[in-house]
Formats: sequence, structure tokens, C-alpha cells
Amino acid sequence: MTSSTELPGPLARAKTTNVKAVAAKVETIAQLDEAITQCNACPRLVSWREEVAIVKRKAYIDHEYWGKPISGFGSDKPRLLIVGLAPGAHGANRTGRIFTGDSSGDWLYGSLHRIGIAKIPTSTSRDDGQKLKHTRINTAVRCAPPDNKPETAERDMCAPWLKREIELTLPTVRAFVGLGSFAWSALIKILKELGHPIPTVKFGHGAEYIYSHEGVQYLLIASYHPSQQNTFTGKLTQDQLDFVLEKAGRFAHAID
Ligand code: SF4
Repeated sequence: MTSSTELPGPLARAKTTNVKAVAAKVETIAQLDEAITQCNACPRLVSWREEVAIVKRKAYIDHEYWGKPISGFGSDKPRLLIVGLAPGAHGANRTGRIFTGDSSGDWLYGSLHRIGIAKIPTSTSRDDGQKLKHTRINTAVRCAPPDNKPETAERDMCAPWLKREIELTLPTVRAFVGLGSFAWSALIKILKELGHPIPTVKFGHGAEYIYSHEGVQYLLIASYHPSQQNTFTGKLTQDQLDFVLEKAGRFAHAID
């Protein structure tokens, strides 16, 4: 008997460097999450995520770092899909859950809690009891990059994971949020590849586009990324983030 998270035979043997082929074969979100976690396709990012997990930050010296790629978190039949940039070196790369264990996560889950999507206002560890209502969070790149800056080749290498996640969740997703210009571009590129009729939409906080595809109406909306750089400087406020996420959540009926 095969468990729901166990990869079927051909996938278990597939080389993780062949991201596109492996991603195309997964049939469920649970399989996708498992396959992502085993990926070693980008040499620079594999070295970095593992080095960070060994060297650690002084404040977390007693923590056992995750040090692997980060899969999506939340519902496997989401109405709202939120896409960020990449895992934080001492956040998700430490805790093993996206936007968890750093200030970006505090901002994102804090906002999702205020608008009625996240069960608790904080996101500190994989077993903190956090739950998301009708919502899933993932990133354009699944391994922590140095200086939070993935290279173009790494973005392209990782894109099949996001593409497959979007394909698998499209039956229920009605609103997409791109956090930051990197995620915004990655999201639009993939949706276009999937045949969604999206023009060039310039990134900016609150930029949005509503469109129909195959009889279904979608909202695509952008937010500044809740990075320390944006939140410490006041470029992104709690109200601004709440506004975008609430708008997307209501459009998608993730919240009433
Ligand atoms: S960034 Fe993506 S493609 Fe590259 S190693 Fe990590 S999971 Fe694999």
C-alpha cells in the first residue's frame, strides 16, 4: 500500500536534477511537496542552504536547521495562492516551513490572522499549530539564496515546481498574490505559459488584474514583499498588506 506522501516508483528513482520531468509526473500536492524536499538541482543554492544549516546564526546555535528545499504550506485545495520570493536563510531554511521563524513570516501570518485566514498570528515552527483557511503559500524559488537573490538560471530551474503547484491547485484557486516583483514576474510568466490571458502588468503595491479563463474569473494582485527592508523602512505597512490580502481573500471566497 502506498501512502499519500510516498512517491510512486518512477518518481522515487527520478533524478532530482531533472526538475521539469519530475514535476510533470507528480499527481498530488503531497507528492509535489515530497519531491521538492528532495531536490538538489542548483549547486550554488544546495551549497548555501547546507552551509547556513551547519554554520547557523549565533541566536539559533542550538537549533537543528532544516537545510533543504521548502515546499508550499496550507490547503491542498486553496482558493487563494500567495507566492513569495524564496525561503529565508535563518527563517524557513531553519524551521522547514515557508515564511516561518523570521520577521517576514511574522508580518505575513500576522496579516493573514487579522483578516481571518491564519489560525494564529505568529509563525514560529512547523509544529506551532498554524493552519490556513482555503489558502496556500509558496515561493518562486524553493531554496534559500545568498543575499535573498536567486540567479535567473536558478529561478528558471525551480519554475517547474511552482508551475506544477499552480496546475494542481487551479481547480480551486481564484486569486493569486505575488509578494514582491520577483514573485510577481514568476507568477505571471507561469500563468501565461498555462494559457491565461494576462498582459504585462507593471509591479506595484496593489497592482491588480482581473481576467477570465475558460469561464473562470481570476484576480491577480501584487504586494510589496514583507521583507525587513520594506517593513522596517515603512515602505510596507500592516494596513497596506492587510488591504491586498483581504481583497484577494474576499475575491477568492477564502474569507466571507
Ligand atoms: S532552488 Fe528549486 S530547483 Fe534549485 S535546488 Fe532548490 S528546489 Fe531544486
